[in-house]
Amino acid sequence: MKLDSMYREVILDHYKNPHGRGLRDGDAEVHHVNPTCGDEITLRVKYDGTTIQDVSYEGQGCSISQASASVLNELLVGKELSEGQKIQETFLELVQSKGRIEPDDAMEEVLEDAVAFAGVSKYPARVKCALLSWMAWKDATAQALGGADAERKTA
Ligand code: ZN
Repeated sequence: MKLDSMYREVILDHYKNPHGRGLRDGDAEVHHVNPTCGDEITLRVKYDGTTIQDVSYEGQGCSISQASASVLNELLVGKELSEGQKIQETFLELVQSKGRIEPDDAMEEVLEDAVAFAGVSKYPARVKCALLSWMAWKDATAQALGGADAERKTA
């Protein structure tokens, strides 16, 4: 299918040319692994108040897990935390949809390149690959800002 091959191109491009890769100064660091596939990520977040100043990372594993970290960096850096959380929730909804969600314009506007992971939702074994860095980001954010605090700020 045409759309599928376009999505594959986007993922491969992020895999080959990752955005913002490398570990930089951060407020919190986490290390997450996806043992079923062997993917790993070390991720740091840097906040300026509630603005996502930086998300830096190092990782290894399949193209989906690594491309997903690159897309995350591209989408979240410079955004407000509340906006970042909205993007994360939308991404989760799409990737966990088991192929039931066909991204519409509104979703595409929120997710930009991340809509390319729509195809991944049809493959349960790859869903964890796509979500690895996003779960790491959520975890690091909770550590950097304090779980309860981060919840309250977006309430
Ligand atoms: Zn993987």
